[in-house]
Amino acid sequence: MMVDPSAVRRLTDWNRDTLDALAAAHGTPLYVFDPARVRENCRRLRAAFPDAEIQYAAKAHTAEETLRTVHDEGLAVECASAGEVRRALRAGVPGSDVTYTAVNPPARDLDSVVEAWGEHPELTITAGAADTVDRLAERGFDGRLRLRVNPGVGAGHHEKVVTGGHPKFGVGLDRVPGLAARIDREFAFAGIHAHAGSGISGDDLDDHRELVRRLGDLARELQRDGISVETVDVGGGFGVPYREDAPALDLDTVADATREALGEIDGRLAIEPGRYVVADAGVLLTRVNTVKAAPSTVVAGVDAGMTTLLRPAMYDAYHAIRNLSSEDDPSPREQVGVTVAGPVCETADLLCENRPLSRPECGDLLAVGNAGAYGYEMASTYNSRPRPAEVTVDGAVLRRRETLADVRRLDAAGDSNRRNDEGDV
Ligand SMILES: *Cc1c(COP(=O)(O)O)cnc(C)c1O
Repeated sequence: MMVDPSAVRRLTDWNRDTLDALAAAHGTPLYVFDPARVRENCRRLRAAFPDAEIQYAAKAHTAEETLRTVHDEGLAVECASAGEVRRALRAGVPGSDVTYTAVNPPARDLDSVVEAWGEHPELTITAGAADTVDRLAERGFDGRLRLRVNPGVGAGHHEKVVTGGHPKFGVGLDRVPGLAARIDREFAFAGIHAHAGSGISGDDLDDHRELVRRLGDLARELQRDGISVETVDVGGGFGVPYREDAPALDLDTVADATREALGEIDGRLAIEPGRYVVADAGVLLTRVNTVKAAPSTVVAGVDAGMTTLLRPAMYDAYHAIRNLSSEDDPSPREQVGVTVAGPVCETADLLCENRPLSRPECGDLLAVGNAGAYGYEMASTYNSRPRPAEVTVDGAVLRRRETLADVRRLDAAGDSNRRNDEGDV
């Protein structure tokens, strides 16, 4: 089956002059984000899953504009923390479209979400352990509660993101009926949930099918026990092509496989894509400040590293890289093996290793693709490095660049010892 070419926006599709102008205006490192692309991705999901409840997994990109955009396109919002619940409500998403997935939830998160539930009684909480159910009951919560199941199968692009079968997540299949019956008595039972992991590709569809089949069977078993299962939430993890030559995920094939594996149920199917909605809506811009010829590679030192975009260091993730400056040159530059390295004193602080790219020069502007998901969100202030700014393609600031004063503000001695000569970096 042919996949519609608009199913993916490649790094080469981004307009060079626009990116160049944004880097000049806002400095680097800089995340650039296109909310219009988020809308297109939402629409494709809705077309492929017309009857399903689609919940955007907010943790992929939490900017308020993104939450408003996805909700405007008819998606609900799945939240990984009390902070994300607060953000979603603040963005105007009604409680009926907010789900909080509690994983070993800190007391503070439960307090905050139960308080929010007081004002938004339609919000849903997903619990993955009997203890979480107890702790919600202790706080007086008796609202909509979904049960996270450990289906015993997982999938994903890297072992660190395979969640489906890991004992950390969810209640074992054998213990679900008892706990579901209790939830049905004491709360408003809102169905079952599982999440296989992240990065489902065409190759991993068998695992996805198996997870969905187990959830479908479980739903029918609960229904036979007299427990009505409003929603069967099969999680997210819809992959995006990080490599230039990787095909786009064929959503219709995933949707057909999902429906077929689920079988007939009384409840409604729900999915929770995060990365699929936002990954190709963002790029990271970074500038080369150091060029060094090593025996085996040319090292291009840049101002973005693992504190800006963690995925390569954490997951060995591949992100496409484009040298925007070299595209200006009257004659094409030589292709050489380039290692793009950040400013952190860690060997893992590389955006790519010995990849064929145009020979880099100091001052070159590089663009890193598919940076809209888990890019800005995983940025940190390690090395006292302020987090980057994020702007839309139109130049509106989504998140301003952090300053050293921001970073130091939390330091207990930061206020009393503050001197005015530290400058900003
Ligand atoms: C992270 C997460 C998702 C989204 O994963 P993606 O790979 O971004 O689609 C969905 N559901 C749950 C419970 C998650 O933790």
